[in-house]
Amino acid sequence: MKIVLASSNKGKLKELKAWMDTFEVYAFSELIEPFEIEETGNSFKENALIKAKAVYEALNDEDAIVLSDDSGISVDVLGGEPGIYSARYAGVGATSEQNLQKLIATLKSKGLQKTKAHYTAAIAIVCKKGEFCVHGWMHGNALAQARGENGFGYDPMFIPLGFDKTLGELDESVKKELSHRSRALELAKIILKTL
Ligand code: IMP
Repeated sequence: MKIVLASSNKGKLKELKAWMDTFEVYAFSELIEPFEIEETGNSFKENALIKAKAVYEALNDEDAIVLSDDSGISVDVLGGEPGIYSARYAGVGATSEQNLQKLIATLKSKGLQKTKAHYTAAIAIVCKKGEFCVHGWMHGNALAQARGENGFGYDPMFIPLGFDKTLGELDESVKKELSHRSRALELAKIILKTL
């Protein structure tokens, strides 16, 4: 079964490919000229479906199975921000480092050293049989500092519940075991097996 990932984010692609090693998996940019997809939805689910549908249409291959991930970090005291705007928190075109530093600066400006946060991942699957979407979450705390080099995005400032190190410091196997993406992928695999 050939699965096409509707993402250009290197961190996500690495995790998705590692999780789906029993399938034949391609990034869409390996098959067609990559293009920007405007995320105009109001939820992770809407944006995941927008991305998967856009890539399914562009591939023009009826048998393709397209999988997308829309994800982000939500900080409780910030009313869930940056949430669906995680990739553009410091502005459209901002780098991961700029987004991370903006969230750290926001927490510092509120006098917060450590505060409740969670990651969400919505995984959408689009194929000739229809459209599907599942979710996964990882709860923990956001720190007003970055620690460690592992993972990507906001990982150096996120401590999962039950740990005292950030995802930047923890071994990558820990994230693979309990991340929002892994939990959503577990459900997505059940759908994929029925297709
Ligand atoms: P999307 O491409 O709109 O889904 O952007 C997701 C953004 O959320 C990424 O660019 C990261 O900033 C952040 N994000 C999502 N998942 C993770 C993760 O597992 N670790 C760290 N940051 C993440």
